Amino acid sequence: MYDALTTTYTFPCPTHGETRVRLSRFRRLEELPGAHHPAIFRVEFACGCGSEHPGLVSHDDLDWAPLGLQDDTSFVNLMTSRLESIGAELGELAATRIKAGEWPWSFFCWPEERPRPIFPSAFRLLADDPAGRRVGVAVCCPVCGRVSLNLVSREHLDVPFHNDREIGVVEHLFEEDVQTTVEEFRAELYSSAFDARRLGLE
Ligand SMILES: [Zn+2]
Ligand SMILES: [Zn+2]
Repeated sequence: MYDALTTTYTFPCPTHGETRVRLSRFRRLEELPGAHHPAIFRVEFACGCGSEHPGLVSHDDLDWAPLGLQDDTSFVNLMTSRLESIGAELGELAATRIKAGEWPWSFFCWPEERPRPIFPSAFRLLADDPAGRRVGVAVCCPVCGRVSLNLVSREHLDVPFHNDREIGVVEHLFEEDVQTTVEEFRAELYSSAFDARRLGLE
């Protein structure tokens, strides 16, 4: 499902059969209702074929697999021609960095006026900004539960532990209601009323 070497997720595509997308190509995420262990998220993603498709991703794949905290990632070691697991090694490295105060993902919570560490399961909506260089992401704060809109680089989302030093934040309090949030999200993203905020979590 998640490939740590290419940092991509594999999803079905009606045109290509299968496609690989990075987190920044996700468009919408919501947790499926009901008791699932682990929780299951329904996502919509922008596919290379030009359409958006739905897909399902488990909470483990969404938040932990990019950190190597599942040990089913394997690769062919060219020196020994053997299939070896890199999961344990990646996971250990991630754990060390988190203990040292580095966070794999972070965002700026506007209602709280402070940066917060997050995981991808906190993403709600994503869209390329009109200039096409950055990505607008609506994040549900794990602490206060409110939604903020940040403008970030693709690497900020796709590469764990790559945190932009400065990101765009829109000064707008989003509604709880999903449909209203979607409309507000689009309107704010196109208004370009972003303020820069520094993301240092120390
Ligand atoms: Zn497709
Ligand atoms: Zn918050």
